[in-house]
Amino acid sequence: MEATRIKKLPPYLFARIEKKIEEAKEKGIDIISFGIGDPDLPTPKPIIDELCKEAQNPANHQYPSSVGMLAYRQAVCEYYEKTHDVQLDPRKEVVTLIGSKEGIGHISFCYVDPGDINLVPDPGYPVYGIGTLLAGGEPYLMPLLEENNYLPDLAKIPEDIARKAKLMFINYPNNPTGAIATKEFFAEVVEFAKKYDIIVCHDAAYTEMAYEGYQPPSFLEVPGAKDVGIEFGSLSKPFNMTGWRIGWAVGRQDVIEALGRLKSNLDSGQFQAIQYAGIKGLTGPKDSIMELRRVYERRRDMVVEGLNRLGWNLSKPKATFYIWARVPKGYTSAEFAEYVLEKAGVIITPGNGYGHYGEGYFRISITIPDERIKEGIARLEKHLVKVEF
Ligand SMILES: *Cc1c(COP(=O)(O)O)cnc(C)c1O
Repeated sequence: MEATRIKKLPPYLFARIEKKIEEAKEKGIDIISFGIGDPDLPTPKPIIDELCKEAQNPANHQYPSSVGMLAYRQAVCEYYEKTHDVQLDPRKEVVTLIGSKEGIGHISFCYVDPGDINLVPDPGYPVYGIGTLLAGGEPYLMPLLEENNYLPDLAKIPEDIARKAKLMFINYPNNPTGAIATKEFFAEVVEFAKKYDIIVCHDAAYTEMAYEGYQPPSFLEVPGAKDVGIEFGSLSKPFNMTGWRIGWAVGRQDVIEALGRLKSNLDSGQFQAIQYAGIKGLTGPKDSIMELRRVYERRRDMVVEGLNRLGWNLSKPKATFYIWARVPKGYTSAEFAEYVLEKAGVIITPGNGYGHYGEGYFRISITIPDERIKEGIARLEKHLVKVEF
């Protein structure tokens, strides 16, 4: 018999679409997937070389420190100084994570008792709510609406909820909407968190995936941020390292300490050779990131311009590798995703997979080669003759 906390986990929302994919594959249909947000390009060579070198060193074959090597934490600090002009103490304000998802999932165990509330964006990366539920807490959904540029309206959070809330999750640049946040918004969040004694957990997975010279801010750039919260960061997206499992949390000292304490009782940290590889990425020249930005910018333009030719009216997202768009009139998200798969052999992600407020939208991820994107868009142009909203 499964434990209640497992039973409370939502069913897998993409089950139906996965079944359709299976069927199409069995029929020998060539499927183009705009579904998964997982970089298709390889990890830069200097990072791979560093792993190979360090893997040969027996000193790295033993248990690492669960909060990460000091050298890795120093590299994270160097990165923040260089990229965000933010100063951090590597000993007290940084913890190494086995991918940022690990920390995002675990942070609720540090602060949430059964019945507590976390503020969770909807649509959003599912782990915020899942971590909350696993810790016995209740997610209170903050709708991210198009008319608010996908920022939560803090004034709409009821007073009693705000008073009870332990954590607030936010994520900019945002998955799945591609929205960005200004420092002014982050300042509002700091003020709100101070007023209600809430710990802010900012998921900064996409701060390096931005276009046209735009550099998304770190939450920690805002005065007072370090008093109220932490930021999760990851090498997964900027260095095409999703499979390597390496990230960090930085910011408020007692929160970093608590997360480190939990981790030291639960896991034994990440393989040191991987941490060395991470150091290589974080402290190295930025040319691989700049090249990656050019690749995604080109792909983004192909998708947005293609959809706009079909009748959408999308502006180009300034960051992330996602295009978030409304489904045409007469379809739910799931119906439209199914329709596109059946007619065109193209997979898009139905927006309701990211929460209730994602209904009516779909997400396209541009983490597939240019040629496949071109072919995918051509198929949509062939099969979606006129789109109405
Ligand atoms: C990809 C992603 C992450 C990063 O996960 P890792 O565990 O570091 O690979 C975190 N948050 C969001 C919103 C993401 O899309």
